[in-house]
Amino acid sequence: MTVITHIGPRVWIGCLACYNAGRLVGKWCDGDTADDVTPEDIHGRSTAHEELWVMDHDGFIGALEGECSPCEAAEIARALSGLTGDESGAFGAWLKLYAQRDERAEWVEKFREDYRGFYDSEADFAREWFVETSPEEEVARLKRWPFYDIDWERASLELFTDGFHAEDVPGGIHVFWPN
Ligand SMILES: [Zn+2]
Repeated sequence: MTVITHIGPRVWIGCLACYNAGRLVGKWCDGDTADDVTPEDIHGRSTAHEELWVMDHDGFIGALEGECSPCEAAEIARALSGLTGDESGAFGAWLKLYAQRDERAEWVEKFREDYRGFYDSEADFAREWFVETSPEEEVARLKRWPFYDIDWERASLELFTDGFHAEDVPGGIHVFWPN
């Protein structure tokens, strides 16, 4: 026996004309090909009804909220499929905050430009940011101090007031540098 486990985003595509007439006609489809679904697919027969609408969805990891067109759902699903597991959690937050709807084709690229990673806290990010961006001598000099006695939380205030943005999620923060 073959067990098929679906892991990608799915959408429930319904017929708007039927919906307006008080009938729910639709079905679950793969998200990444939602824009290929025809009214005939949904009705199981030929039909004069033309407009389809995504009325429910599953597996979009926060990247899609509410209802939308099958085309929009497919664009988001395809963007998600190009991301690693780590990235996909951050992508939903990024999409809500920064994505321009008319730049869908560049979403993944822009997201990767803005995304600085997942950290335990602002202080944790500030410490790593300092080590990565400061000259070696500077890091070495500071490391002679008891390195972890530095108040990184306070140090992080400036970073996050002036450019970086933290999005709280369970267990930590996603850090963005929005352009
Ligand atoms: Zn219909």
